[in-house]
Amino acid sequence: MAAINIGIETPRVVVVGSFNVDHVWRCQALPPPGATLAGTYASGPGGKGFNQAIAAARAGATTSFVCALGEDAGAALARGLAAADGIDLRDARSEAPTGTAGIFVDDQGRNCIVIGAGANATLSSRHVAAQDDAFATADVVLAQLESPVDAIYAALRSARAHGATTVLNPAPANATTSAGLLALADILTPNETEFAALLARHTAERIDDQAVAALDPAHLHALCRQLHGTASIVITLGASGCFVSHADGHLRGDELACYRVPPKAVRAVDTTGAGDAFNGALAASLARACDAPFAQHLRFATRYAALSTERDGAAASMPRLPEIAARFGG
Ligand code: ADP
Repeated sequence: MAAINIGIETPRVVVVGSFNVDHVWRCQALPPPGATLAGTYASGPGGKGFNQAIAAARAGATTSFVCALGEDAGAALARGLAAADGIDLRDARSEAPTGTAGIFVDDQGRNCIVIGAGANATLSSRHVAAQDDAFATADVVLAQLESPVDAIYAALRSARAHGATTVLNPAPANATTSAGLLALADILTPNETEFAALLARHTAERIDDQAVAALDPAHLHALCRQLHGTASIVITLGASGCFVSHADGHLRGDELACYRVPPKAVRAVDTTGAGDAFNGALAASLARACDAPFAQHLRFATRYAALSTERDGAAASMPRLPEIAARFGG
């Protein structure tokens, strides 16, 4: 049985996913093939799974993070950072190097990214299954698709078996998905690009991802319902907020089956990881008060993600709980 939240119970979230060491070079223009350019360098933690685990922990949930790491400096970085945020790290040790991302960013903020999945690609369903004690006490299990689909499948299945709420962030957009995997999600959280990709893969609908934010709500709701019969779908729309679509009879405490949530007005300086902030905060909020109206969780996630955009970085930019009230009021 999943832990039942009655007032003083600790909200528990398990995140299953990737950890990367991000290497970022800022240069005037992106390098064409064969070029050598001068730039400035910075490195830091990343990976959708780790970013979301940090967000869930800082948003107030007792958080476990299930991942695969190498035996190298990247793994030591992950361990140190997880410990600093009180995250229960459940890493499989891989012979492959810890995941990396090489990122070039130009003066206009455009980027080129190469991901070396490394150890992330070795996360196994066996390692996930061995974390059953974590799933057994989880209120919410949150996963993305930067890890092998078998491992994610095992995580969501185990979560379901223990009665936890499952949140699947179907990112990145080019990741493999199956109808069976989607069926294990109680809540799906694509951004516009990922939503268009899911529709193309799982329905006969083809839409322009750039047009999603402007679509009529009734049309968007109908598309969501075609994609998934039972899950609540939250499409994140960057600076346009998000759109929610619930299945008939599964309104999660809301009065409306579909609605938009406007963004918080902020002075965004770096939107990297905004989606990760949103997902981690949504999971933590759901874990804290699973019976509260869904709109209340979205209000929290929207504020949390907005504040994360006012700081540089991904994992490093995740706000702590008291900072939300301090910035936006109660
Ligand atoms: P992703 O990083 O996965 O592409 P989005 O860009 O859709 O995700 O952002 C996730 C959420 O973060 C949005 O739904 C919104 O609530 C918030 N957000 C993102 N960019 C901004 C912004 N410029 N201003 C305010 N909120 C933002």
